[in-house]
Amino acid sequence: MIFTLEPNEIRLLEHVGRCAAELGVPAYAVGGYVRDRLLGRPTKDIDIVCVGDGIQLANQVANGISPRPKVAVYSRFGTAMLHYENIEVEFVGARRESYQSDSRKPDVELGTLEDDQNRRDFTINAMAISLQEGSFGQIVDPFDGMKHLEERVIKTPLEPGKTFSDDPLRMMRAIRFATQLGFSIDPETFSGIKEYKNRINIISKERIATELEKILLSPKPSVGFNLLFDAGLLQIIMPEVAALQGVEDRQGRAHKDNFYHTLEVLDNVCKKSNNVWLRWAALLHDIGKPPTKKFDKEAGWTFHGHEWKGAIMVPPLFRNLRLPLDQKLEYVKKLVMMHLRPISLTREEVTDSAVRRLIFEAGEDLDDLMILCESDITTKNPKKMSRYLEGYEYLKERMSLVTEADRLRLWQPPITGEIIMKTFGLSPSKEVGVIKTAVREAILDGEIPNEMAEAFNRMVEEGRKLGLKPIA
Ligand code: ATP
Ligand code: MG
Repeated sequence: MIFTLEPNEIRLLEHVGRCAAELGVPAYAVGGYVRDRLLGRPTKDIDIVCVGDGIQLANQVANGISPRPKVAVYSRFGTAMLHYENIEVEFVGARRESYQSDSRKPDVELGTLEDDQNRRDFTINAMAISLQEGSFGQIVDPFDGMKHLEERVIKTPLEPGKTFSDDPLRMMRAIRFATQLGFSIDPETFSGIKEYKNRINIISKERIATELEKILLSPKPSVGFNLLFDAGLLQIIMPEVAALQGVEDRQGRAHKDNFYHTLEVLDNVCKKSNNVWLRWAALLHDIGKPPTKKFDKEAGWTFHGHEWKGAIMVPPLFRNLRLPLDQKLEYVKKLVMMHLRPISLTREEVTDSAVRRLIFEAGEDLDDLMILCESDITTKNPKKMSRYLEGYEYLKERMSLVTEADRLRLWQPPITGEIIMKTFGLSPSKEVGVIKTAVREAILDGEIPNEMAEAFNRMVEEGRKLGLKPIA
C-alpha cells in the first residue's frame, strides 16, 4: 500500500519534522489521518504526536509559518491546534493511559510512541508516519494495521475485552467504521463487543448519537444497524427499533420481519437522498408496528394506526438520544405520521380534493415524503413492484394536474385572521377561527377557486351564518 499526499501536506509535515528536530522531540503523524491517506479518503485534519511537549511543538511550528497562524491551546488536555491553509493540525504529546475499573476517565501520563499506539482503538487507527530526518515517511505499524486495511477488517490492537471495557464508545466506533468503510469486524473483536455491550450505558447519549449519525450517513446504513442488533447494542440504545425484529406465525400466517424491511427502506432512501433527517424518518417509519400489532382471525396480522403511534414515539426517542427538538423533530414526526398517505391515494377513484389535501399537508416536505413512500416498497415480487411504482407515477401525475399544486405547497389561504377581524370588526375570538377554517376547507375541497375575490365572498357568507355583518 502506498499513500499519496498533497504538496502542501508534504510541505507542512516536513516543516513539523524540522521543528521537532530543533526541539529534540521525535514527531509522527498518527491515527485516522494515516488510515485515510492509505485508503485514499479525503481528510482535512492531521494529528501529530510527539514524544515531548505537544504545545511547545505547535508554537515552534507556528513560528516558522508566515503569517503566523493562531495556536489554540487546550492545556487541560495538553493539546494545541493550528490551521495551515485548509488543513487543521492538532498536536499532542505521546501519552500512556491506564484505566481503573471504577472510572471511565483514564489516568494519563507522558509516554512513548509505543504507549500512544497501544491506547488507540483499532489496528488501522494505530499507525504512525515518522517525520524524522532519515526515516521520514516510514510507517510505524506495530499491530499489522496495513495488513488489516488490505484485508478490510476492524480489529483491536490489544485484547478486545480490555479495549471495550476501558472505553465502551469504541464498540460504536467499530461498527461505525465497518459501515463507513465497508469492512468486516474481526470475530474475536466482535465477541468482545457482545460481551461488554452493557457497558455502553456509561457513555453519554450525545456521543452515541454522533456515531449513529455517522452510520446513517454511510452509503449502506443497514450494515451498521444489523451489526448493532447482532451485538445486542441496538436493544440497549434504541429498543423501539430493535423491537421491529422477528416474525410471528399464527395459524400458518406470518407477518414480514419489520426490522429487515425497515433496513431495506433505509438503504433505498439512501440511494436517493443524503438528508440525514429523511434517513432518520426511514429508520423510524414503522416503530409504531410492534405496539399496534394484532392478530385477527379474518384479516391476519394488522398494525392499525401504527403511523400515529409511531409519530408519538418519535419525540421521546429524540429526547433520549439528545437529538434536536426543533423543526428536525417535527419533520421526522410528520413523515412517520404521513408515510401511508400517498399509497392510499394511488387508486383511480380518489378525488382531486384528497390529492390537493395531501399536497397541502405535506407542504414543502412532499418530495421527501414521496421518496420515503417509494422506498417503502420492498416486495420481492417484480409484478407487484411495478404495479406499486405505477401507482405512484399515476399519483405524481395527478398531483401535477391539480392546478394549484405548486402554489399549494407553500400555500397560505388568502383570507387571514386579520382580514376577518377587520371586516367584521371582531377581536380575536372563536368566530375568527371558524370562518377561517370554513374558507380554507372550501378552497381545499375545490368548491371555490384559490382566489382573493371568491374567498372574500365566501368569508362574508360564512360570517353571515354566524350572524355577523361586515362593518362599513
Ligand atoms: P473520524 O475522524 O472519521 O471520526 P478518526 O479515526 O479520525 O475518525 P477521531 O475521533 O478523529 O477518529 O480520532 C483520531 C484518532 O484518535 C483515531 O484514529 C484513533 O487512533 C484515536 N481515537 C479516537 N477515539 C478513540 C477512542 N475512543 N479510543 C481509542 N482511540 C481513539
Ligand atoms: Mg479524525
